[in-house]
Amino acid sequence: MGSSGNEHIVMLPILAHGHLIPFLALAKRIHRRTGFTVTIANTPLNIQYLRSAISADSNSLETSHIFLAELPFCSSDHGLPTNTESTENLSLDQIGILTASFETLRSPFHNLLVDIKEKDGKAPVCIITDVFFGWAVDVAKSVGTINVTFTTGGAYGTLAYMSVWLNLPHRKTDSDEFNLPGFPDRCRFHITQLHRFLRMADGNDSWSRCFRSQISQSLKSYGMLCNTCEEIEPEALEWLRNYTKLPVWTIGPLLPQAYLRKSTSTCSIYKQHSGKIPEISVEKCVEWLDLQDPGSVLYISFGSQNTISPSQMMALAIGLEESKTPFIWVVRPPIGFDLRGEFRSEWLPEGFEERVTESKQGLLVRNWAPQLEILSHKSTGAFLSHCGWNSTMESLGQGVPVIGWPMAGEQTYNSKLLIEEMGVSVELARGVQSDIAGNVVKEVIELVMNKTAGKGLEMKQKAEKIGEQIRAAMADEGEEIGSSVKRLDDFVKSIMLRRPEH
Ligand code: UDP
Repeated sequence: MGSSGNEHIVMLPILAHGHLIPFLALAKRIHRRTGFTVTIANTPLNIQYLRSAISADSNSLETSHIFLAELPFCSSDHGLPTNTESTENLSLDQIGILTASFETLRSPFHNLLVDIKEKDGKAPVCIITDVFFGWAVDVAKSVGTINVTFTTGGAYGTLAYMSVWLNLPHRKTDSDEFNLPGFPDRCRFHITQLHRFLRMADGNDSWSRCFRSQISQSLKSYGMLCNTCEEIEPEALEWLRNYTKLPVWTIGPLLPQAYLRKSTSTCSIYKQHSGKIPEISVEKCVEWLDLQDPGSVLYISFGSQNTISPSQMMALAIGLEESKTPFIWVVRPPIGFDLRGEFRSEWLPEGFEERVTESKQGLLVRNWAPQLEILSHKSTGAFLSHCGWNSTMESLGQGVPVIGWPMAGEQTYNSKLLIEEMGVSVELARGVQSDIAGNVVKEVIELVMNKTAGKGLEMKQKAEKIGEQIRAAMADEGEEIGSSVKRLDDFVKSIMLRRPEH
């Protein structure tokens, strides 16, 4: 698109790893397409992750005009540990408190914008903030700019997430199923797809008051950027646009270019992607994967902050071993234990790790794995995932089908999208309450890993088609510019046109 002069965009993601990653990717994309300067503001711990991700990418032109601004954050006033700056490793109740405390960022963020305006001699062309920072609409106005809300999820999940909070309560009859405003009647939702707070919420409790108020304020933004593309969610995008009455620019899925080009075997990208260093070396992981047959490995991970219950962990291990399917499993202490603590072998069947290591059936990775390298390896055949949007897109971007085990947030809606609209997933369990048995785990794994016939083959073919659509939508080199790159250019044109001097 070429440079549009010395413009500045300021971003504020919420304090969760799964949001920092797409915000940073968006900043890089914007700079690459426009030459604009981008400042990402956040609290010190999260700035540390971003700094590490950026410095791992220091040769890239994309990061030369991306700046980081630290905002002080005081969580102790809210009953959280003083070093809490991330949703990582917090219980769901603590996440609720953390979210309510996001208001504390309002004043330092406003001051940052004032400083930038003074330094640049003009206000940023826009600010881009997470949907949970509805107050940013007023803050933007006060410094003479506009707020654009960026939903790091897809269209379906974002619409469901907004609608469940804005239309409480949900159980109006004895039925466990209900319709959700914004969705057509055919999309019936189930009470177990709601977070436990939402099942109880009546609209007046502190959680609902906080979420409803932030979401409805954010709907007064100039527009919405959505981390998806028109090709993979055409209907959901139409529903989202109708419901929010906002212009929605589809600018994703924001996956690293090297990943989409499938050139990861020669390019290690995990660090610049997440800013976190896995406890296992990428080389060791790849070496292990190289020993396996193409499409034979099941990768298992619950994202950056979830874990399962002790009994679920046992059942999963039993089913895995019985299925004889090769696997890489990112293990964390189960619910009820310190997530930062040591992983204990007693949480798994006796001798499990020794047996699967010895036979080369399984690789247990503690806490954090080089996910992109695993998903892009030819041996990986399916992903047992919590259905976080980043993980889902990273999987489909490589044509890898999913076994869903949604845990929280909009993950149950993502899982519904993958099953009902895309046909690339089956759901094994839902949340930490689901009772699962080893034989059910084995059956589901066998169904999905069988790529020669039936459901497994069908899911694989559909996932591959979606992978092609994702790669085409994000292509920004060569003759064919992808739809999501064009939408980003449209977005930039739109914000430039409303600038007073234009
Ligand atoms: N991730 C990773 N290694 C892990 C777990 C997660 O690199 O062991 C990355 C993953 O690639 C994805 C992000 O962390 O980009 C998780 O985001 P997602 O939206 O899937 O879930 P969340 O963590 O927000 O629940």
